Amino acid sequence: MIEKINALKAEIEALEAATPQEVEALRIKYLSKKGSVSLLMNDFRNVPADQKRAVGMAVNELKTLATEKINALKEATENTETDLSGLDLTRSAAPLPMGTRHPLMLVRQEINSIFRRLGFNIAEGPEIEDDWHVFSSLNFAADHPARDMQDTFFIRRNPDVLLRTHTSSVQTRVMEHTQPPIRIICPGRVFRNEAISARAHCFFHQVEALYVDKNVSFADLKQTLLYFAREMFGPETKIRLRPSYFPFTEPSAEMDISCNLCGGKGCSFCKHTGWVEILGCGMVDPNVLDACGIDSKIYSGFALGMGVERIANLKYRVNDLRLFSENDRRFLREFAGAH
Ligand SMILES: [Zn+2]
Repeated sequence: MIEKINALKAEIEALEAATPQEVEALRIKYLSKKGSVSLLMNDFRNVPADQKRAVGMAVNELKTLATEKINALKEATENTETDLSGLDLTRSAAPLPMGTRHPLMLVRQEINSIFRRLGFNIAEGPEIEDDWHVFSSLNFAADHPARDMQDTFFIRRNPDVLLRTHTSSVQTRVMEHTQPPIRIICPGRVFRNEAISARAHCFFHQVEALYVDKNVSFADLKQTLLYFAREMFGPETKIRLRPSYFPFTEPSAEMDISCNLCGGKGCSFCKHTGWVEILGCGMVDPNVLDACGIDSKIYSGFALGMGVERIANLKYRVNDLRLFSENDRRFLREFAGAH
């Protein structure tokens, strides 16, 4: 019996296996119910009583040895790397998929670069604002509807802390700390309490421009607008200004450009008028300059502001605002290579 055990012990110690299948075959051969080690247990019955203790210990040791050996082999074969013999190490790697720029960022960058060519610097400010920077300093009357909960997101019902509804708050912040000449553009995200649909969203992007200096006139504004429109939409683009009202500018105007789809002849996109509205503008109201510590008797200025989504719509014909924030890769991929 002991010889048999020792022979098996030597046999098990020398076991080798290259694949998990071979290990499984060994497990069956030695450790299954009819395996050699288990069969030893059957012989155990015939061992004389005075040897049972010693033989029993030897059999148990053998069982432990076999279990450990097979587990070790199992681990070793399972961890073996994939067969490398068929691998071509000289083959070039699959190309990494390139990301694309978001259409809103493409448009924002283009707007920024046009105004930078005119000498405007980029200014940024916080998205969480106070009443002063968003409304009061900009000549909004105390009962102006924009201050209503219906339009503005207030934070924790505190009427003085809110998400900015326009980037004009950045203009206020710059004017408070800078004396003219001021020539800035303020790109950023703004928030309005609106139900989300194809035409409205609770957040969107604006770029505003502000120019304050001595003798800044409406003619400067108009020339700047014309330059911007032609750089953005092509040299044939025409502009027209319609009187409008904003609390922070006087006089105020809305600017239309000749429809870049039909060239001004009239189509369904421009509702057969030949014109599409793209931005609001005007001369900075003297009250705003004075509120920000700039002497309106010496300085004047113009401001203009546009929605980046609106420009992107005109440029890329994206008619549903929601597409801009849904991160649908099929939509975003369409802008691969655009710049
Ligand atoms: Zn048209």
